[in-house]
Amino acid sequence: MFKDILGNDAIKASLIRLNAGGRVPNAMIFSGADGVGKKLFAFELARIFACSELVNGEACGACSACRRIGPIELPESTDKNKDKFARVFFGEHLDVGMAAAYKRFILVDAIRDLEAQSRYKPYEARARTFVVDDADRMNDAASNALLKTLEEPAETSRIVLVTSRPAALLPTIRSRCQTFRFAPVGRGELERYLIEKRSLDTADAGLAASVSEGSVGTALTLDLPDLRERRLRLVNVLKAAFEARDVVGLLRTSELLNEAKNKDNLEAELKMLLTLVRDAWLIAATGTHENIVHADIAADLSAIASGTDARCLARAMDEIETLRAGFAVNVNRKVGTDNLFLKMAA
Ligand SMILES: [Zn+2]
Repeated sequence: MFKDILGNDAIKASLIRLNAGGRVPNAMIFSGADGVGKKLFAFELARIFACSELVNGEACGACSACRRIGPIELPESTDKNKDKFARVFFGEHLDVGMAAAYKRFILVDAIRDLEAQSRYKPYEARARTFVVDDADRMNDAASNALLKTLEEPAETSRIVLVTSRPAALLPTIRSRCQTFRFAPVGRGELERYLIEKRSLDTADAGLAASVSEGSVGTALTLDLPDLRERRLRLVNVLKAAFEARDVVGLLRTSELLNEAKNKDNLEAELKMLLTLVRDAWLIAATGTHENIVHADIAADLSAIASGTDARCLARAMDEIETLRAGFAVNVNRKVGTDNLFLKMAA
């Protein structure tokens, strides 16, 4: 049932309402960041079409049809299994299929198979559902094949294009679909979910929820011990900058962060640094720990805040944002990080 999926309540309500009125569009785009539940929603919609015991317009989750429908497990694409990806994948329910990318692109044959499958009447459901995962990975041939299907949709099939990059779809495809935009899940809601359903303790749940930016998928796959270690290194940067004014130590950390093996993480590090500085700024500005992200290390952050003032911390946040923007236009990362740390210590 939708209540078991986190977030985006307006989309849940809208899909249930559309279905009750028999007005679910033939083709839909579910767009939004990775890990916010787009695919889960698509399969939940498929259950609504197949469920034999609807409850208030929702799939019951318990009947034979519901139990057979859920995200379809796919093999990894390898040099040997291209033929598998040239077709629609089916799980245990024959009215629910999914096309997915073979390596970088969705094969045109997979879309042609989807076209053919969408012409068949449902075996047992009220409508057949076809999900195109990472739909932005259709090349021109696949896109044009899909366009043909969208131009003359089959009455008893529904197509859901799942994508985190809707702008990469052909405009002609977008104009023939109704788009549902998925929002990130709220931090508090995600935190409660991690504690109640995934048995994380409060500190882990708080950390996971704060760094995953509303993506449940990301929150569930984080390496928390590694994350804590990286965070500690950044807390030490702030201590060196605002307490010890340890320029040598700061330049050494900048060097470390820019080493080849860490380079790809630099943006993520700066993002986390920003959340730490913002917390210290909140503490300096309000004198309380309310609303801070890294509540489990509030004592460290208080110590940092007391070594400086809200104005300096606000300036540091600006500097971090400027550096992050600079990365997009190829500012030298090592020089940029050096400068940032030195400015914070000044
Ligand atoms: Zn059911």
